[in-house]
Amino acid sequence: MSDVTTVNCPTCGKPVIWGEQSPFRPFCCKRCQLIDLGEWAAEEKRIPSDGDLSDSDDWSENQQ
Ligand SMILES: [Zn+2]
Repeated sequence: MSDVTTVNCPTCGKPVIWGEQSPFRPFCCKRCQLIDLGEWAAEEKRIPSDGDLSDSDDWSENQQ
C-alpha cells in the first residue's frame, strides 16, 4: 500500500504526485498551469459581457 496521492493534470491528464515534488500541482508542469490560467482568463472575459447584456435589457424596459 502506498500513501502517495496522485491527481490528473487538468490540462494534459498526466498523473501528478500530490506533494512537495510537484510545485505546480494539480498541474504536471508550469506550462500546463499557464495554459489553464490562460483559458480561465479568456472565459472570465465572457462573463462581464453577459452581465452587460441583461443590464441593458433592464434599462430599455424602464425606458418604455
Ligand atoms: Zn500537464
